[in-house]
Amino acid sequence: MIKAQISEIKALLNSPKQIVIVPHKNPDGDAMGSTLALYHYLKIFNHKAVVIAPNDYPDFLKWLPGDDTVLKFESQQEDSKALIERAELIFTLDFNALHRAGEGMAEAIDRSKATKLMIDHHQQPDDYASFTYSDVSMSSTCEMVYNFIEMLGDIDKINTSIATCLYVGIMTDTGSFRFPATTSRTHQIIGDLIEKGADNSQIHNNIYDTNSYSRLQLLGRAMQNLRVIPELRTAYITLSQAELDEFNFKKGDTEGFVNYALSLKGIIFATIFIENHADSIIKISLRSKGEFSVNEFSRAHFNGGGHTNAAGGRSDTDMQSTIDKFISILPQYKQELSQK
Ligand code: 5GP
Ligand code: MN
Repeated sequence: MIKAQISEIKALLNSPKQIVIVPHKNPDGDAMGSTLALYHYLKIFNHKAVVIAPNDYPDFLKWLPGDDTVLKFESQQEDSKALIERAELIFTLDFNALHRAGEGMAEAIDRSKATKLMIDHHQQPDDYASFTYSDVSMSSTCEMVYNFIEMLGDIDKINTSIATCLYVGIMTDTGSFRFPATTSRTHQIIGDLIEKGADNSQIHNNIYDTNSYSRLQLLGRAMQNLRVIPELRTAYITLSQAELDEFNFKKGDTEGFVNYALSLKGIIFATIFIENHADSIIKISLRSKGEFSVNEFSRAHFNGGGHTNAAGGRSDTDMQSTIDKFISILPQYKQELSQK
């Protein structure tokens, strides 16, 4: 984002505006952290800001400061549509293509005459916004919102609520500061956020130590379903709808499961296939280590995308044919997958 654009954005934010802030569908910690942080920041300047999430998100995010103000498009369509139509500015955070806001909401944003601003770290961003702050090297959109506030000259305005929300997104998107996109700058920002009031230990506790018994049982089943293809350094997990039902699945329960597959010694590509009867799809999460791009893999074969080492995707066929397809494609990548 260049200086001239920052001056334009400053001018836009100079007087109170009607602002809508949007995370991607099935929001994660970075999506909710970044949108709520921006919400708290804009409130300081008396903007009429609101976060509208495309749909619901896991309970472990529902303690975030400002959570009670979030609208959900899926269940509050009329109010949401009116706010989007009336908005003067729409920020879209943590996604790179409007369709990631989900059916109905993407079209409403597209129709709106508001000035659109994108802040995002996913690869290959679409060009729908008047202002695009895209940086695929960033650990998280939350790190970018910190930078954005800094570019606007307002680092000293970061309060405990903003700091807490930003901490959550950086922590969750970096796997607690261990993925390669975590830099010394990321740690410096985290240090500053703690100084500004983020309670690091409490935040870890709120996000990670809220397991239900049934979630741990579901994890046990997922681990039993883990399969390994050692010659291609690949591991995958399946969970059927029946298994999800058996363990009383709730949104967010499978978050992080795929990382266990990736933690196997020697494995550099891991996926989890999760059946979703309601949407008639198999939801796929893909993770890798090193150069192998799950973004490219998912774009090419499973209607998705994301980052080099973390992406999502979907399949519209049943579990068995999805797995068959996956296994039949893999040998094409033999060379990349056998590299150190
Ligand atoms: P997850 O596996 O946790 O759903 O997603 C991993 C990463 O890929 C996240 O950063 C998420 O935002 C992104 N992602 C998930 N699904 C899609 C998709 O269908 N398209 C794109 N472009 N990104 C996705
Ligand atoms: Mn993110």
